[in-house]
Amino acid sequence: MSQVALLSSAEIIDQFDRYVISNYRRYPVCLVRGEGSLVWDAEGRRYVDFFPGWGCNLIGHCPPLVVEAVAEQVKTLIHVPNTWYMEAQGRFAEALSERSFGGKAFFCNSGAEANEAAIKLARAYGYPEGRTKIVTMHHGFHGRTYGALSATAQPKYHVGFEPMVPGFEYIPFGDLEAASSAIDLTTAGVLIEPIQGEGGINIPPDGYLEGLRKLCDESGALLMFDEVQCGMGRTGKWFAYQHFGVEPDIMTVAKALASGVAAGVMMARSDVAEILKPGMHASTYGGNPIACRAGLATIETIENDGLLEQAKVLEEKFHEFFTGIRDQRPDLIQGIRVRGVMVGVDLACDASPIVAECMKQKLLINATQGHIIRLLPALNLSDELFEEGCSILKSVLLNHVMDRPQS
Ligand SMILES: *Cc1c(COP(=O)(O)O)cnc(C)c1O
Repeated sequence: MSQVALLSSAEIIDQFDRYVISNYRRYPVCLVRGEGSLVWDAEGRRYVDFFPGWGCNLIGHCPPLVVEAVAEQVKTLIHVPNTWYMEAQGRFAEALSERSFGGKAFFCNSGAEANEAAIKLARAYGYPEGRTKIVTMHHGFHGRTYGALSATAQPKYHVGFEPMVPGFEYIPFGDLEAASSAIDLTTAGVLIEPIQGEGGINIPPDGYLEGLRKLCDESGALLMFDEVQCGMGRTGKWFAYQHFGVEPDIMTVAKALASGVAAGVMMARSDVAEILKPGMHASTYGGNPIACRAGLATIETIENDGLLEQAKVLEEKFHEFFTGIRDQRPDLIQGIRVRGVMVGVDLACDASPIVAECMKQKLLINATQGHIIRLLPALNLSDELFEEGCSILKSVLLNHVMDRPQS
């Protein structure tokens, strides 16, 4: 029964046109069911999903342990506010702390909210010393609420919504000299994605994050990693920063945190976290038992199934696949960046026709920054579906005629 919608895709689209604000560009398809790396639409058509849940479904659609935990929790207790203790929240905080840098957790419901918490905490921590500046990176993405948006150094997202929140300074990603001029005694914190997601899967140059750590230590600023997209095992370690031998003072995670159940978290070093006293920050739904049970089941699945190791296997397979395509189409493919199941491929043209053609052939992928193909596949993508998706991608890329070459 759950396989089919009550309405056709066309009827649902018509209803959206009348009642849902059109702030999203949507494909003209209504998805009704998912399992692992497959989804089905209202007409029963099956798609291979190399971008499940926009990065949220890191262990595929409807992972069994998560489904079970959520179903059980829903029958027991749906919601209790943070004026009470609840077991799942404490257990989830412990699990995240043990797998990161030993800090404490504040739970919320999204990436933007987690970054709002981080920005507020950094300012509260620096307040006695008059530190208000937050330094962030070009091509970064931190969310759409005003604080997170002001932290997002991409002018296209600011247009029409100015003025931004004051106190943010933007510098180029990967440029230590620029960081050294920007980070000073007025700096409360530096917020950066260890691997930029929306910016195009940008991997920092060697020594860069270590350099930032050093600059922060010297100036007394907090180093804050936005792991909303790259965290939770996507890169083959629990958190992407663990590849680079540095630890942050604050970290934010959302998207895959609870396998697609809305959840976000800010982790902070204990002595920094202490600054937050009752009344200073809150979230009604933050850390609710459903999200926390889903998060615990996500961690359990990743560990039971050896999925961190699987990230490395898929990294190699995707790298090899795209390298093979580049050998045949060096005119089309200009760069390949893969870390675990984060894949960015620079094209010499607009990527949207490629995304559209893949969708026509029943493969779901994404494009970012106009000309970059982005894949955020599931850690448990099977060999069969890897082959099926890649053969579609291969024929689409090899046959693509560029009509709008970019320089
Ligand atoms: C998606 C994303 C956000 C925003 O998360 P929302 O849940 O949409 O608010 C923040 N930071 C990064 C790195 C992201 O990829």
